[in-house]
Amino acid sequence: MLDLTALRSHFPMLSATAHGEPLVYFDNGATSQKPVCVIDTEALFYRECNANVHRGVHYFSAEATRRYEQSREVLADFLAVESREIVWTKGATEALNLLAHGLTHTLCKGDIILISELEHHANIVPWQLAAARTGAELKAILVNSQGILELDTALALIARYKPKVLALCHASNGLGNIHDISTLIAAAKRHGAICVVDGAQALLHLQPKPKALGCDFYVASAHKALGPTGVGFLYGRYELLNALPPYQGGGEMIETVTIAASTYREAPGKFEAGTPNIAGVIAFAEALKFIQAQNAEALRTHEQALYRYLVTHLTQIDGITLYGDLSQNIGTVSFNFRDEHPFDIATLLDHQGIAVRTGHHCNQPLMQALNISGTIRVSLAFYNTFAEVDCFINALNAALALLAE
Ligand code: PMP
Repeated sequence: MLDLTALRSHFPMLSATAHGEPLVYFDNGATSQKPVCVIDTEALFYRECNANVHRGVHYFSAEATRRYEQSREVLADFLAVESREIVWTKGATEALNLLAHGLTHTLCKGDIILISELEHHANIVPWQLAAARTGAELKAILVNSQGILELDTALALIARYKPKVLALCHASNGLGNIHDISTLIAAAKRHGAICVVDGAQALLHLQPKPKALGCDFYVASAHKALGPTGVGFLYGRYELLNALPPYQGGGEMIETVTIAASTYREAPGKFEAGTPNIAGVIAFAEALKFIQAQNAEALRTHEQALYRYLVTHLTQIDGITLYGDLSQNIGTVSFNFRDEHPFDIATLLDHQGIAVRTGHHCNQPLMQALNISGTIRVSLAFYNTFAEVDCFINALNAALALLAE
């Protein structure tokens, strides 16, 4: 059993008020709240250890470097990969751009890059840019009328296109659907595809193990998994990662520089040009340790019970349309009410202290497929409570009654 009161006491923002009402934070898909250990670690670094990494022989530079590199070990342990397979980035977006840029040299005219209609713009636009540079073609696996990526459809397209690159989200940010990534990767691997997984939404909820999934690359952002903003990572199978060309040039990523030419460090160093977000990386390691210290099964059971409770209540409201796969889901509910604008409902919820997200969620192709302009998205995390769901349902009913007047 989870001691939710104890667990929640680690997250100062969960005691905040919004518009004078206790905050009900249901926007975890946008960013998670942060435990005290993460907040304190970031501040403490600047207070007690501030120095640049890799640059000096002095005490604090060595200490900052030690903590920065130790954080890589913590993430490697969390993902069950080698630490040299992890590149720190400023987020999932930068990691996907690094990759799409780096794979340019392996893509040729006519090659297929296969994504899905469920992808976040961060897993679409970098591939469009790569396609434009190389003459490769970007294709998408279409979703069904509920916004679900059907396995048969996906497998048929993989067999038909034999993609050079398959880039899919582990879990959808707009709808919360969890994908059968290992089956899709196994199918794409039969044709020699490079398989990329966008794990931005999965890191906190599924605690992924990229090697077990069989992918070549896995990306995510720290801030959606209790860590700070401005930090993320690219995991890459070492031989493939090391074969990628540098993404950005600058200090730290080189071995030698002359005016004529430079040589680069081995991965991951060659991808980390310039001064990184040192404090953020170190604080992210605390977030991962915090997650590891919990009972993963208990977190997931609670989150799923909460999700089912929310879905049950929502389906009892006449006029609500729910989207996505309700059976395999990280705890995100996307819905609309009749033809009311999602923004109007979310504004009325906000005035009652409830934080949800509305709009297209950086999922415009998905919204086009569903023939809607946007949804109201409730995204849960393990620290949410049944009482908060009750509060949300009451507030929603009040908002809908007001709109009906
Ligand atoms: N992919 C998915 C599935 C996401 O949910 C997000 C963030 N909403 C991103 C990529 C991009 O993450 P970031 O903005 O932190 O780089």
